Amino acid sequence: MRKKIVAGNWKMNKTVSEAKHLAEAIKNDLAECREVDVVLCPPFIALKTVSEMIEGTHIDLGAQNMHWEKSGAYTGEISAEMLRALYCHYVILGHSERRAYFHETDEVVNKKTKAALAAHLRPIVCVGETLEQREHNETEHVVETQIRNSLAHIGPEQLVDTIIAYEPVWAIGTRHTATPDQAQKVHAFIRKILTQMADEHIAQTIRIQYGGSMKPSNAKDLLGQPDIDGGLIGGASLDPISFVEIVQAS
Ligand code: PEP
Repeated sequence: MRKKIVAGNWKMNKTVSEAKHLAEAIKNDLAECREVDVVLCPPFIALKTVSEMIEGTHIDLGAQNMHWEKSGAYTGEISAEMLRALYCHYVILGHSERRAYFHETDEVVNKKTKAALAAHLRPIVCVGETLEQREHNETEHVVETQIRNSLAHIGPEQLVDTIIAYEPVWAIGTRHTATPDQAQKVHAFIRKILTQMADEHIAQTIRIQYGGSMKPSNAKDLLGQPDIDGGLIGGASLDPISFVEIVQAS
């Protein structure tokens, strides 16, 4: 049985003090949550504060991005080692907003994924098609290319520490959630690709989250699908009540 994992991607929202309040509200309900892996991904500036807030709880910390180099002249960037020093255990990589606005390619995502794994950070690697690609029946081709290239040259023992987030771009922040059936089909397809890339056992071990307008009202149906192992939550993770309800629906 794969343990479900629900991560809140706060994106570019919340000042440090707002982040502290949000983390505190979530902690009040989920500090002792052992049934589901809960991960909070605040902006970089709030990592330390949220890290301190959740110390001693079962809630984990994640970042929203990182650079692949260990250190050096990369103005504005943050390394995996820096994140580890703040007790980060996860990092979101290749989010569609980073791919669209910051031109991140699969090759860049691959370099970051390898660097994260080398630093013992669990990468949450995001893949997903645009509306146009879905309408042209390109979903499987797009997702397969992203998975194979973003996870290229990663051995099976490291693949198991990788989390994949299937996030159809047309569902992110749009209120157009994929139906449970649409999402399940792509998740099962991703698991088939992972079987080809590694083996059946590893493909059955890797967790695949769904992301795209998940909220309390649709979480149970999505998370009830056999290949949906959790959620990557954007908008609804900014409201502690909604986020906690999604975790409780897992
Ligand atoms: C996301 O950005 O990862 C996401 C899933 O956003 P939302 O839940 O707002 O669609």
